[in-house]
Amino acid sequence: MDLSKTFLSWPVLRQFSGNDPLGRGTAARSGQTERITARTETADRVARSVCPYCAVGCGQRVYVKDEKVVQIEGDPDSPISRGRLCPKGAASKNLVTGPMRESKVRYRRPFGTEWEDLDLETAMNMVADRVLKVRDETWQDEDESGNKVRRTMGIAGLGGATLDNEENYLIKKLWTAMGAVQIENQARI
Ligand code: SF4
Repeated sequence: MDLSKTFLSWPVLRQFSGNDPLGRGTAARSGQTERITARTETADRVARSVCPYCAVGCGQRVYVKDEKVVQIEGDPDSPISRGRLCPKGAASKNLVTGPMRESKVRYRRPFGTEWEDLDLETAMNMVADRVLKVRDETWQDEDESGNKVRRTMGIAGLGGATLDNEENYLIKKLWTAMGAVQIENQARI
């Protein structure tokens, strides 16, 4: 057995004999750490994205290997967050890869007690039918004083804080074109 090698494998000796006297770098690194490779280094490519959790909109780098998300880190180039993510953003890989993630449209009918799976086209048609029906039933050309209003008070929009500026812009345009006037976003409440 090479005793000098064993001796030098002790962290405290590495700390005082090497170039890391404060023990915050290589001296404190374990053999296991030396043997592993970060997923960010072995990824095939990196996509730029925005954290979807809240309205701050921190920049993210999404590391992809074999067309699967393997890691998400803060993007140092983002002028918003400069490489930082809060614990929610740092854990957002699970949003994509978690086994509990819902990937189908789930629907519970009025007075129903069970969830049903719907295909997306059926669900979108159901939403469109209901929006058009409510709009027809609640449309007002004039208010009670005879003022032209051309609106519906039967539809209200409430956006979530994870929507970004562009999505909110389009949602506001859509609802306004439909005649809705009650349009709000959780980030403003
Ligand atoms: S990382 Fe945190 S602060 Fe930044 S957008 Fe995501 S949830 Fe918001």
